[in-house]
Amino acid sequence: MTAVIIDGKGFAERLRGRIGTLAAQFEEQAGRKAGLAVVLVGEDPASQVYVRGKHRATVGAGMESFEHRLAADTSQADLLALVERLNADDAVDGILVQLPLPDHLDEQAVIAAIAPEKDVDGFHVINAGRLATGGTGFVPCTPYGCIMLLRDRLGDLSGMDAVVIGRSNIVGKPMAQLLLGENCTVTIAHSRTKDLPAVVGRADIVVAAVGRPEMVKGEWLKDGATVIDVGINRVAASEEGKTRLVGDVDFGGASERAGAITPVPGGVGPMTIAVLLRNTLVSAFRREGLELDESAL
Ligand code: NDP
Repeated sequence: MTAVIIDGKGFAERLRGRIGTLAAQFEEQAGRKAGLAVVLVGEDPASQVYVRGKHRATVGAGMESFEHRLAADTSQADLLALVERLNADDAVDGILVQLPLPDHLDEQAVIAAIAPEKDVDGFHVINAGRLATGGTGFVPCTPYGCIMLLRDRLGDLSGMDAVVIGRSNIVGKPMAQLLLGENCTVTIAHSRTKDLPAVVGRADIVVAAVGRPEMVKGEWLKDGATVIDVGINRVAASEEGKTRLVGDVDFGGASERAGAITPVPGGVGPMTIAVLLRNTLVSAFRREGLELDESAL
């Protein structure tokens, strides 16, 4: 079988188009733009790239982007004071603190300080709890993007066997909760899982969020499985001195066995920013008490 390539880039572009239309509608009704505040502490090069991308996408969707760049030696107290100011700022609908933070800062305490109704990353324990108990909150962007791609590809996921490889708070665990919400039978695999190939081989849906280049092999997969590759790993390219991005799945081998697969790049990655914009817009409509058909997003 030759797998269908799941075009996350195209899907994300269409989603951003719908967000742009609704952002204009929001501005007209609320008399202001929806606003996203992004806080970057220090000069981590990868984080700078992500923050620039988020700024461009936010402005591109017709929303306000508030960037706060703080020095690497910013104190916990100063960072918490900024989060408090953003919590109280009516022009700010979403707050994102770019992770990882420098070592001297307590990430959990900073996330806990964000008002849950502005926590568009969905990392606050209140939002994690709402996801686990079926309440309405914000869901972390990457796993939500994966679910959108899966629903688009497969329709009803009810009764399917799903394996999530990875159990981080930002990808693996919320991914498993979302699949459970779709009535899948969910297995969460991790570094202590015994016989991972056998576990993967039972799955109709495989989500790989490990951070190990091309670890999941094509021959592990059940014929026709749908594979969502969350991994982003930079490896040496064949050309000397150059690098390239690969996922957690051996794309070549998996494409021969899977029914459908997301590529890296161009699969899950573009969905993450699109869902961040979605969550910010949803927050804006909720905070202004304006009606929004969230299912249209
Ligand atoms: P973490 O490092 O937080 O978690 C990795 C998980 O993989 C852990 O649960 C770990 O298990 C598990 N794991 C490690 N080695 C193995 C192994 N040999 N077999 C089975 N499981 C294993 O990573 P994240 O969840 O933050 O990210 C995962 C990947 O997704 C990374 O490549 C990251 O770059 C990418 N990513 C992509 C995003 C996007 O926008 N596309 C967004 C976020 C992340 P254990 O818990 O036992 O240690």
